Amino acid sequence: MSRCDAANSAVARQGKATTTRVIRKWNERLKCGVTSLNADLHCHSVVSDGTLTPEALAARAALHGVQLWALTDHDEVGGQDRAIAAAHAQGMDYLTGAEISVTFAGKTVHIVGLGFDHRNPALVQGLYATRNGRGPRAQEMGTELAKVGIKGAYEGALTYAGNPELVSRTHFARFLVETKVCKDTNEVFKRFLTEGKPGFVPHRWAHLKDAVQWIVEAGGMAVVAHPARYDFTPTEEYALFTEFKSHGGQGVEVVTGSHTTAEYAEYADIAREFGLYASRGSDFHSPDESHTELGTLPTLPAGLTPVWEPLADRVLRTSSH
Ligand code: AMP
Ligand code: MN
Ligand code: MN
Ligand code: MN
Repeated sequence: MSRCDAANSAVARQGKATTTRVIRKWNERLKCGVTSLNADLHCHSVVSDGTLTPEALAARAALHGVQLWALTDHDEVGGQDRAIAAAHAQGMDYLTGAEISVTFAGKTVHIVGLGFDHRNPALVQGLYATRNGRGPRAQEMGTELAKVGIKGAYEGALTYAGNPELVSRTHFARFLVETKVCKDTNEVFKRFLTEGKPGFVPHRWAHLKDAVQWIVEAGGMAVVAHPARYDFTPTEEYALFTEFKSHGGQGVEVVTGSHTTAEYAEYADIAREFGLYASRGSDFHSPDESHTELGTLPTLPAGLTPVWEPLADRVLRTSSH
């Protein structure tokens, strides 16, 4: 049995690590890049467009058996200190996280950063600049929605935003559900908030190169979030991964709440083709809206190298093991 197999089976037998021997095995297990780890490295709190606090998310993740967690709020690291403390209070290991909005080939692409120094000045400034355009965009969305008879949407969305710097389409969607314009947030996006629909306001987000560099220069790994969601042609997708890699990007989400089972296999192939580390995350936003619960997705396909292998030294370890 190899060193990694032994570490894996020791931890699997004993569950949560408590003794020194198992503690050592646990650390080896992360470094060995064991794919069966219950890692959830993508979710949102009230600091962006989620409905739960970092503490409530941590408790929920732990309840569902998450062993390694990351809070990845949109364009914002304001929840990281609370998430670190909450993860440790729940006995979970933690990687810092954020999901950065980028414009590439005329479409919005999300880049998840993991394991960075969340106080790095260039990263903090870059995220601030990315958030900055959200206020005027939200006001314009309110104006556009008023033209089709929906009044007070900007003010309504603001009442849902836990962070006034982070008004997102999700907050508008919640307002339109509350005021019974639509029956759920999905319907709001379909009818009002996607390209070509009355409340959609085109927006220029960060450059791919900048987002990747903020993350990498802060000591973290950049990961392409939910790649199946972008509706790119094969040529555009190839360009995305090629440019992403050339700027220092190293990871791709393979197992995410936004992918079908067939897409897990498709992006496992992309991870192999481009030599990328594989990530797993629910993209959980809210108990009422999210169809994927924290920590419940299938584990990564065997044969891939998970992001937590090269990031093992960036993991903030809980004191309980
Ligand atoms: P924004 O960053 O303001 O453009 O908002 C993007 C957020 O809207 C995403 O992070 C999702 O949380 C949410 N979203 C995007 N598309 C949909 C959809 N079709 N249904 C529900 N939520 C969506
Ligand atoms: Mn979101
Ligand atoms: Mn996203
Ligand atoms: Mn997300």
